[in-house]
Amino acid sequence: MKSHADWKALSESLTLNGQAYINGSFQAAVSGETFPSINPATEAKLADIASCDQADVDIAVENALQTFRSGVWSEMAPKERKNVLLKLADLIEQHQDEFAVLDTMDMGKSISEMVAIDVPDTIDCFRWTAECIDKVYGEIAPTAPGTMALISHEPVGVVAAITPWNYPLMMVAWKVAPALAAGNSVVLKPSEKACLSALRLAELATEAGVPDGVFNVLPGFGHTAGKALALHHDVHVLAFTGSTRVAGMLMEYAGQSNMKRVWLEAGGKSPNLIFDDCDDIKAAAATSAAAIFSNQGEVCIACSRIYVQKGVKEEFIAALTEAAARFQPGDPLDPNTNMGPMVDEAQLDTVRRYVQSGVEEGGTLLCGGEPEYVEGQGFFAKPTIIADANNEMTFVKEEIFGPVLAVCEFETEEEAIELANDSQYGLGAAIWTSN
Ligand code: NAD
Repeated sequence: MKSHADWKALSESLTLNGQAYINGSFQAAVSGETFPSINPATEAKLADIASCDQADVDIAVENALQTFRSGVWSEMAPKERKNVLLKLADLIEQHQDEFAVLDTMDMGKSISEMVAIDVPDTIDCFRWTAECIDKVYGEIAPTAPGTMALISHEPVGVVAAITPWNYPLMMVAWKVAPALAAGNSVVLKPSEKACLSALRLAELATEAGVPDGVFNVLPGFGHTAGKALALHHDVHVLAFTGSTRVAGMLMEYAGQSNMKRVWLEAGGKSPNLIFDDCDDIKAAAATSAAAIFSNQGEVCIACSRIYVQKGVKEEFIAALTEAAARFQPGDPLDPNTNMGPMVDEAQLDTVRRYVQSGVEEGGTLLCGGEPEYVEGQGFFAKPTIIADANNEMTFVKEEIFGPVLAVCEFETEEEAIELANDSQYGLGAAIWTSN
């Protein structure tokens, strides 16, 4: 395992490229516009990022379409396409430390999570989908004699992928690997808040043998590059992960343009139910703390609403507060750090606003609630627990996407289920019971 000093040295040695990646090479945005990528732990500028917009989208989509039609990738023999994606997985593995550092610097996730989760999961995702290429078969439908009906898997054409910043590399892999495996051409718009690993991935894809024009990356903002992609008539599928608000907008954009297929993964406010008959309250408390404070709470399935049954409430809250104290914001490049900074100042402000509203609406602040500075800088938030909460409170209803946990009480199982399901979201849930 590398030391803090090793990771710091690696972070300082990298050459970061924030240009768009179109047709197999790095390019400035047509407008020449850039915006800065800021390291949220140090507030230092990492790179100038190309601010792509409609003009870049038109070029990238046209390239992707022509490449798709040429068959150079879409009609490549399955075994060959598989080998290219397996080679890409190998290249990611060879550069695993570099990828770990890129996302840690770009969005603040702890290096230990990058090493344990994001990078290995990305490699697995490419390997798994690559292996599907020559192993997922079509079907023959049952028909009357003299008729033959075949069901086969075909690429759709140009897939636009729009991704969030909370697992920058992994979210990109989950979209791009299957789309490429199926033979599509891809235009990816990663989050403006963390796009460096996506750009490096595209460069390695070329090295692995993905033909030029098949995998393009356009950094830029949602209302410019993202919207232009979503409204584009030559985009056939839109694959999105991000907030519920933007997910709804993308459905509208599809309707306003070519009714492209839209696949959405959106936000969450997941409940975590602790019953009186839970036989290990300490384990429940430790896991519940990890379920909201890991990755600074910037997790779609973060269990941000706890419903605890009256009989174990006091014992559980004491154990939970103790478990929360083990999450301490620190330099994310330190392998001992289990909480990095929030992705940016705006996200830290969002956390502050929700904590304030929770207290104003009657909640009891048990811990946290303030920003924290590591070596005098950065956008760090402390793990925060607000008890005496209920479903009428704004901070219990809305996704915060930060390390803020609401603790509510219930008496009966029926009440618990009703409270848990009383949400506009549906993504994850946890239950602690021995029955
Ligand atoms: P976001 O919705 O603000 O942004 C996501 C992406 O959409 C970004 O690339 C952004 O630039 C783009 N975008 C924004 N406005 C757009 C527009 N008008 N047109 C087209 N594109 C636009 O979300 P975020 O802040 O990046 O990520 C956090 C959200 O993602 C949370 O709600 C979280 O729950 C969700 N998320 C969900 C999952 C899941 O699997 N369900 C996984 C991770 C994150």
